[in-house]
Amino acid sequence: MNTEVEEIKSRVDIVELIQGYIRLERSGINWRACCPFHAEKTPSFFVSPTRQTWHCFGGCAEGGDIFSFVQKIEGVDFREALETLAKRAGVDLRREDPGIRSEKTRLLLLCDEAAKYFAAALAYYPVVGVYLTGRGVLPETIKEFRIGYAPDGWRNLLGALAKKRFRPEEIEKAGLAIRSEKGFYDRFRNRVMFPVADASGRIVGFGGRIFDAVVTEAGKGAAKGSGVSGGQGDAGAKYINSPQSLIYDKSHILYAFDKAKKNILKENACVIVEGYMDAIMSHQAGVTHTIAVSGTALTAPQVHMIRRLADTLISSFDADRAGQLATKRSLDIAAGADFNRRVAVIPEGGGKDPADVVLRSPAEWVDIVKNAKPVVDFFLERALRTHDKKTPSGKKEIAREVLGEVRHLTNDIERAHWVQALARELEVDEGAIRGELAKIADGRDVPDEDIVVPAARSRRLLLEERILGLLLLHPEKRDYAKDFFAGFDGTFFSDVTHQAVFTMIMSSADEKAEERAPEAFAKKDAFIKDLIFQTEVMLANLEEKERPRELEASLKFLVQEVLGEECGRLARDIAAAERAGDPGLQQLMERHRAVSQKRETLA
Ligand SMILES: [Zn+2]
Repeated sequence: MNTEVEEIKSRVDIVELIQGYIRLERSGINWRACCPFHAEKTPSFFVSPTRQTWHCFGGCAEGGDIFSFVQKIEGVDFREALETLAKRAGVDLRREDPGIRSEKTRLLLLCDEAAKYFAAALAYYPVVGVYLTGRGVLPETIKEFRIGYAPDGWRNLLGALAKKRFRPEEIEKAGLAIRSEKGFYDRFRNRVMFPVADASGRIVGFGGRIFDAVVTEAGKGAAKGSGVSGGQGDAGAKYINSPQSLIYDKSHILYAFDKAKKNILKENACVIVEGYMDAIMSHQAGVTHTIAVSGTALTAPQVHMIRRLADTLISSFDADRAGQLATKRSLDIAAGADFNRRVAVIPEGGGKDPADVVLRSPAEWVDIVKNAKPVVDFFLERALRTHDKKTPSGKKEIAREVLGEVRHLTNDIERAHWVQALARELEVDEGAIRGELAKIADGRDVPDEDIVVPAARSRRLLLEERILGLLLLHPEKRDYAKDFFAGFDGTFFSDVTHQAVFTMIMSSADEKAEERAPEAFAKKDAFIKDLIFQTEVMLANLEEKERPRELEASLKFLVQEVLGEECGRLARDIAAAERAGDPGLQQLMERHRAVSQKRETLA
């Protein structure tokens, strides 16, 4: 096992691997990006090609190697990351005993077999193929998206999977069968089947659209009406989906994401549509950076999956339908992730959804996406159409709808632009619009809990880390630090780990030269390894001539910080002593003066 891991590590370059997921830019000897695992605006995610490691110096403060990166970004366990990377490296893993194959792997295999069964069934019922062709789906698209058919009947899939040695209990666990008093039966019956894959393309669930025509065994029947009766309450629903399962975590899955992710990265934009057919037809039309959310609004993890690949999010909106709350809610959530948001508007009478547009004209859909409007323009135009801007109540409604979008803009100039534009349009005072905007902005959405808010580290802790890192990289400066600290009394490292590392660095001052090398320390502790990495990154961002002075400056700042804290403490004690008429007041004031003076000498 260990040799396999080492073999894979030697063949996969971490920078190349991570570049397949997010955009990296050079930063000295390292590479950096905005962290894919937490929301941030300034890059604090670094990749070191020499160490073959990654690290987030922001909110997550996490790091690791190629395996931990794949585990985190794909949301898989170690074994799965190992398999993915082995494939990439061309390393053969020793075969696992099928008996101990993890339950998850087994369910994935089951879903894949089910998809094969549904795809094969499609060939037996030509009328379903005729239906798909009628909706404009090409044979190669059917194959690419593995569209299938679940025949009418209670035990078709159960029977087919039994032949592959899957037990009914497993089929139920994968969400494909339902248990009743009389036994197990197929969840999907008489439905066009859309396999749903995870980010790496493994099938984890299904969506099934009711097939309107009653299909006879001969595949000839085409009478209208549902061919299903009884059983589940949702049997007649237009769409049913696999339930949440061990392998299907709905909040982390986006339909067609596996096929779209490379193109999303390339286009630096992601098109979001609402249904399976919309996504499939959009891909067929050549808009291959399309994914679908089905019916529900985007979840925070889903937003994250997209955000780390692209800056722009394009939602399709249909001008005819009023509601579309899911799309609206998705746009709001996306605003929280600082997306550049656009709306692809399907013109009035242009059809219900993207699938209709593509059926009529693929080129038209390409154009609609290309001409997607910035979200505020879209809402202003729409508000002006639906409300009368001459009446006071109309003005109020228009302002409310548009400002609801303007408040999400992070750029002040953009906000000012819209305040002016709206004031002009509604013929009201700019101040009034600004007042309304302030009111709306106060009621800001609370941030999604899944987005990590970086914990603020104190300036003192940051300085402590910087000094330790510099001493690790430049052991020759240890004497300087020792002499510097000798001029002051007190403790300079507020964190116990920091103090321990400092003691270790200083006590090894007399050891042999080769042990002074940073690598020697690096082996001892992951914390030290991170510190060295972080310091290298920091130094790479500095001008050559600034580097030597960095330690001296940091030491001075740290002592100033420590003395400043002491001054603050003394000032509070003095105030308390004054109120209480404490006789110790004089002594406190003298101490305060002494510390202040010392602080000034450093300035
Ligand atoms: Zn992070």
